[in-house]
Amino acid sequence: MTQANQHRLLRRQLKRAFFTPEEMEKHKDFFIAVNDAYKAADSDVAHLENILEVNSQELFRANQELETDNAIKTKEALAAKSKLDRIVTNINDIIFETDEEGKFTYVNESWERFSGVPVEQTIGQPCINFLSQTKFMDEAVARQLMTKKFDELHTIFATEKEDKSLTWWELRIKKMTMHTGEAGIVGSLVDVTKLKQVHEELTMANEAKNKFLSAMSHEIRTPLNAVIGISNILMLDDPKQAQMENLKALKFSSKHLLNLINDLLDFNKLSSGKINFSNSDFNLQKELTGIVNSLSYTAREKGLEIFLNIDGSAPLYVKGDSLRLSQVLTNLLGNAIKFTNTGSVQLNCINCSKSHEKNRIRFEVIDTGIGIPKDKLNIIFDRFTQAEENTTKRFGGTGLGLAISKSILNMQGSEIIVESELGKGSKFWFEIEFDVSQKEKSRKSHKTDDGEELKGMRILVVDDNKMNLLVASQFLQMWGTHIDEAMNGEEAVSRAKENQYDAILMDLQMPVLDGYGATDQIRAIEGPMSKIPIIALTASVSNEIIDKVSDAGMDDYLTKPFDPKDLYAILLKHFGNNLAA
Ligand code: ADP
Repeated sequence: MTQANQHRLLRRQLKRAFFTPEEMEKHKDFFIAVNDAYKAADSDVAHLENILEVNSQELFRANQELETDNAIKTKEALAAKSKLDRIVTNINDIIFETDEEGKFTYVNESWERFSGVPVEQTIGQPCINFLSQTKFMDEAVARQLMTKKFDELHTIFATEKEDKSLTWWELRIKKMTMHTGEAGIVGSLVDVTKLKQVHEELTMANEAKNKFLSAMSHEIRTPLNAVIGISNILMLDDPKQAQMENLKALKFSSKHLLNLINDLLDFNKLSSGKINFSNSDFNLQKELTGIVNSLSYTAREKGLEIFLNIDGSAPLYVKGDSLRLSQVLTNLLGNAIKFTNTGSVQLNCINCSKSHEKNRIRFEVIDTGIGIPKDKLNIIFDRFTQAEENTTKRFGGTGLGLAISKSILNMQGSEIIVESELGKGSKFWFEIEFDVSQKEKSRKSHKTDDGEELKGMRILVVDDNKMNLLVASQFLQMWGTHIDEAMNGEEAVSRAKENQYDAILMDLQMPVLDGYGATDQIRAIEGPMSKIPIIALTASVSNEIIDKVSDAGMDDYLTKPFDPKDLYAILLKHFGNNLAA
């Protein structure tokens, strides 16, 4: 081992030890091994230092990256916050937060613009303090706000400005856990004054439209009722065969016109979601026969056969809305005739009742006409939709009939179903569950129209329309009753004070004093007249009118134009009650 080969530490140690050359030679191998060990240790240290250097460089880089990343994120967060701040500050709506007790913890600047109270003065205030300044707030909602018993709330209320004008607000609030982990409420207040104004204008316009339609239809219905009533009287007068045919045609046309007016009203009511169904006894077989008869002329004119098949087990009387049933069936049969050129049209009435509590009846309208393409089967029930574009030109119609029929049936919990094959014909069917009619139960045991039971009864007929008075009086005279007439409510009241009657037939809409007011005053007369049966005569029946009639203290109602049998039955019912009393 030369000196140059010696590791510096070994060299230093040998120098200090003063070994003789012999000793050096003797331990030569040992010194070589020590020298190698020193050198190996040096190279290990160098290697470790190298690794350490690389690691610290990597650590430095990672640190730098992290710092840049953090800086970017902070910048982004700041940008997002300032964007949010800008939006929240500049939007017109008020945004707020409260703590669990309802004290404001945050309001945006819109609050100050609308309330006039600075943001700093609002923070910490209970939001309930501001409730006293609200108007038209729903009481139940106000209570919920006071008691804080809600999870979410949505309401509309107003506040009054100095000039007394109102600002309408839409309030939405929700309980939630805040970023601090505490419970609180977040909410928004949106100025909806303009929307409210538009809504009010629309409601008023809609009401005006409804009023106009019902006033017009009332005006048209009154003379029509007289025409139908007089044709009824003439038909009872034993006319000649030819006259009878003409009278039937007259009655049919006027009833058809009445139906048209009702359709127009219905469409109006359906589109505004307001439609009521009556629930009265009616003769199902007579109703169906009437519908088919009224259309048989048109069918025969086209060379079509028209059949009515009524299941032998079907009840004669049911309780329900005959007008709506007739409207749907007339529409379906009218279409069947319209869209059939050869063959037949039939109406089947099938009894599907499974219990004695209800009368479930299935109605089928079947034709051998042009049929409906499969892809059009669904859309024909939409408003103003027809299977073919040229339908109106070829067959007429508006595409409204099926839409009205479907809505009427849906509202009674029934579905209309169509099956059809192009070129072969169509079948429309639906089922209605009627209530069981009392008339049906006592049908065979009761005799109601031999004209004897009412003999001697004293009746006051009140109607401002002379024609209506004439029609009612004709029947009443035929049954041997004594009749007195009054042209308005006021006259009716004074007649009732001066005379004794067994029943009053009371029109509802009259000048001077209407039927409701007259009933009110008659009920206040001292003596037996206050309890007299009063029967309302109404041109249209709705649940609203039925309620009004009964609230006014009237005992029953009859729809104009009335069937003489119904008038007889209703008088007998109340005359009987009166005698028993
Ligand atoms: P309208 O008859 O006034 O056109 P509807 O709503 O009553 O309106 O009927 C819509 C469409 O359905 C009709 O235009 C016709 O294309 C089709 N349709 C209805 N009934 C029948 C039927 N019995 N046979 C063939 N097509 C029919």
